Amino acid sequence: LRSFTILFLSCVTIITRFDWCFSSITASSFSLNAVGGGHFSFDETSLRNAAKDFGNRFQYQPMAVMNPESVSDIANTIKHVWLMGPTSHLTVAARGHAHSLQGQAQAPNGIVINMESLKLPGMQLHLGPDSDSDSDSDSDSDSPYVDVSGGELWINILHETLRFGLTPRSWTDYLHLTVGGTLSNAGVSGQAFRHGPQISNVQQLEIVTGTGQVVNCSKDENGELFHSVLGGLGQFGIITRARILLEPAPTMVKWIRVLYSDFTAFTRDQEKLISSENNNAFDYIEGFVIINRTGLLNNWRSTFNPQDPIQANQFKSDGRTLFCLELAKYFNPQDIDFVNEEVEKHLSYLHYIESTLFLTEVTYVEFLDRVHVSELKLRSKGLWDVPHPWLNLFVPRSNIHKFAQVVFGNILTETSNGPVLIYPVNKSKWDNRSSVVTPDEEVFYLVGILASAVGDSSGNDGIEHIEGENRRILEYCERNNLGVKQYLPHYNTQEEWKAHFGPKWESFLQRKSVYDPLAILAPGQRIFQKAI
Ligand code: FAD
Repeated sequence: LRSFTILFLSCVTIITRFDWCFSSITASSFSLNAVGGGHFSFDETSLRNAAKDFGNRFQYQPMAVMNPESVSDIANTIKHVWLMGPTSHLTVAARGHAHSLQGQAQAPNGIVINMESLKLPGMQLHLGPDSDSDSDSDSDSDSPYVDVSGGELWINILHETLRFGLTPRSWTDYLHLTVGGTLSNAGVSGQAFRHGPQISNVQQLEIVTGTGQVVNCSKDENGELFHSVLGGLGQFGIITRARILLEPAPTMVKWIRVLYSDFTAFTRDQEKLISSENNNAFDYIEGFVIINRTGLLNNWRSTFNPQDPIQANQFKSDGRTLFCLELAKYFNPQDIDFVNEEVEKHLSYLHYIESTLFLTEVTYVEFLDRVHVSELKLRSKGLWDVPHPWLNLFVPRSNIHKFAQVVFGNILTETSNGPVLIYPVNKSKWDNRSSVVTPDEEVFYLVGILASAVGDSSGNDGIEHIEGENRRILEYCERNNLGVKQYLPHYNTQEEWKAHFGPKWESFLQRKSVYDPLAILAPGQRIFQKAI
């Protein structure tokens, strides 16, 4: 009786709220609820929450929030919107953990799909070779894997796979993000030099397209859709399930930081470590820039506690800009002697400032979940829900020195709230058939300028100042033709998007016309206007 009442009430709500724009939903909304089990929310709190994201700068309320329990809830919702045809303004955005920066997961006056409520059928782990696999040409076909919902958080996948001694291979620095959210961009961290980004570590997807079709895809089956969706900014379909490749998990991590004052030596060492001959030296390679900092360990994304904190605190930067190479070596305790030797061997040919070798050992989970610890600290001080005018760029190797000279030397001299990440990756680990856009060189750098706007809006730590710096950086790159591409891109006009995609624009357009011809999906990316 209780579930019937809930069902009845939710139908009444849908009918009363949707009758003026969602004319065909009345009869079928009943079956949507009966079959799929999900429900719509229309209350002010749900709508307000769906208009928030980590960037904290763009807030567009939807008309409804759909909380799916099954794929058919999502498919039915999109099919309804599709059947309304081009005269309807209604759009649909999948919302993962809403860690977008500029409203990318919002749907102004449309429907936001709360992907985290899609839990069925739950995570399913496959430990050994898949005898049914028909892609025997693919060396990954023997890997263990886990099938997860597109709304699953990476942190949950970590904990679940570790129960079987396994782990995903490629990560982001922060794990409280959804699979669908990171796969719609790329998912890059210090493991990408070896394994490629997260989009290179997915074997299969289940997608609901912009016409409401549910389609399974992989490199070999519906390959065009598979590649479109990876890095596709949510434009071609909603990822409802993903098959993530796994590897044996270590238990411990040697976490190392060394400092450079010479940018050339810093990048030369980074590039040496990601080159094929040293590919196994470390499991994770990143780096960051320290500009105008007093305390060297003053880095909010870090829970790094060196074994010798006094030495670390005593090091004086004397106002110099420094570059920190961050490395990790995974290990199991029984292999510690071998690992120590290996680490020593590889550190011996690097050219960091001798007194600046900082080391610590943490568990694998502590290492991967390191940013979350900082999140909790910032939350307790009210510094998490502030505007985040982040700028993420891919810079080609050939121009990284020019870029660094101007950006770190002249533009970013006063902002000090948030880290500036910089590390190289190998393009050969990225599949060019995916939708993500990267520079046209084998080695390119991820540069993440991750500022928090905490002060007066016009002060040095304020939003206007930081946005002004970001604009200056983009204009400098553009004026000097540095071949830089935005990661987690944000543009206001289709001309800018065209320039961003460059030679990939035509195929992006073509894919859109096939998989989401009415431009229903992910309107918050501002690439396409719904055809009206
Ligand atoms: P959302 O913000 O909810 O959605 C992002 C986009 O994807 C939207 O357009 C949305 O409509 C679409 N989308 C969401 N779910 C789906 C789905 N299931 N199917 C299709 N489309 C979908 N990125 C990195 O690569 N490396 C990092 O190290 C990294 N660190 C970060 C640290 C922090 C603290 C934050 C806030 C972000 C970081 N990011 C990083 C960026 C992050 O990967 C992206 O912002 C990602 O989109 C966030 O995932 P989400 O689940 O919050 O996605």
